[in-house]
Amino acid sequence: MGQRDQSAGAESALPAVNGEYMLEQTAALCRIPSPSGFTRSAIDYVAEELGRLGIPTARTVKGALVASFPGGDPELGGRTLSAHVDTLGAMVKEIKDDGRLKLTRIGSYDWATIEGEYCTVHSAGGSREITGTIVTTKASAHVHGVQLSRLKRDETSLEIRLDEPVRSASEALALGIQVGDFVSLDPRTTIAASGFIKSRHLDDKACVAILLGVARALMESGECPIAPSALFISNFEEVGHGSSAGLPDGTVELIAVDMAAVGKGQTSDKFAATVCVKDSSGPYDFELSRRLIELARANDIDCRVDIYPEYASDVSQALRAGWDVRGGLVGPGVDASHSFERLHRTSLEETARLLLAYLLAA
Ligand SMILES: [Zn+2]
Repeated sequence: MGQRDQSAGAESALPAVNGEYMLEQTAALCRIPSPSGFTRSAIDYVAEELGRLGIPTARTVKGALVASFPGGDPELGGRTLSAHVDTLGAMVKEIKDDGRLKLTRIGSYDWATIEGEYCTVHSAGGSREITGTIVTTKASAHVHGVQLSRLKRDETSLEIRLDEPVRSASEALALGIQVGDFVSLDPRTTIAASGFIKSRHLDDKACVAILLGVARALMESGECPIAPSALFISNFEEVGHGSSAGLPDGTVELIAVDMAAVGKGQTSDKFAATVCVKDSSGPYDFELSRRLIELARANDIDCRVDIYPEYASDVSQALRAGWDVRGGLVGPGVDASHSFERLHRTSLEETARLLLAYLLAA
């Protein structure tokens, strides 16, 4: 992206966003295990951070987090920004005779993307953490030779090897491991000096961090959104029902803040924000999308317009559940999504600025 003109007109006078803060919050969130269905710690963390910023929160029955900003003209329709704190993960499907664990996936990803990954089994109701590695049943090159390269990676060929002296199912059971235990993947979160962060689960923890960055910018500047505005941190998006229930009262416009799909044929970029106008669930609201694109232009924000071929969002899920809202989709460019993800601080900043422009404009 080019240099930003700091002397731009009054319309560009957005509250300052703190890229380092959002990067740190992204990393902190990525390090809290939260596969869909096992998100309480991550939700607690976000509630605590919003509380620290002076924003009270409430929980929905199914455990999502809602926070309202002060102010806003009640005559205007309510605006809600959502991001999901749940991630991909797995569950123990079966304890094998040799004490290794068969998996069932939580969320959609290719089995090949978890081969070799360190993981944690959350047993005994989540109170005991037992680490391991996801390996294939033919992992040893010196035993199986070329068979490994011909092996299809799926639920029959990948298993957890526990970091415990386990040789039988009964020894695994004795550790407290049971069918149905959640399994989280080691995020391997790393921040590079260049401003990149590489980690699993940037989808969508980077966007939860963006919402924290937006909240911090508003609270520090003392500026209030023009309409009643709220944050919604959903906790079941990766399995298809993130914001299907419990949206804040009065929500008329819902912006899903979720990663932009970077790759061949896409306009989305690792240093930019994207307004997605269509994904697998169909077009997003035309006028709301146009407004977002125009706000980006007016505020000199590097923002792309894109279509995601294999994608759905909190907005898709809310609309399918019957919510009568206008939906938009905005997010930072993430490379290699649902795999070995990476994003740059600049895309966090551009997305946060676009969201601030949206909240502060009529
Ligand atoms: Zn997502």
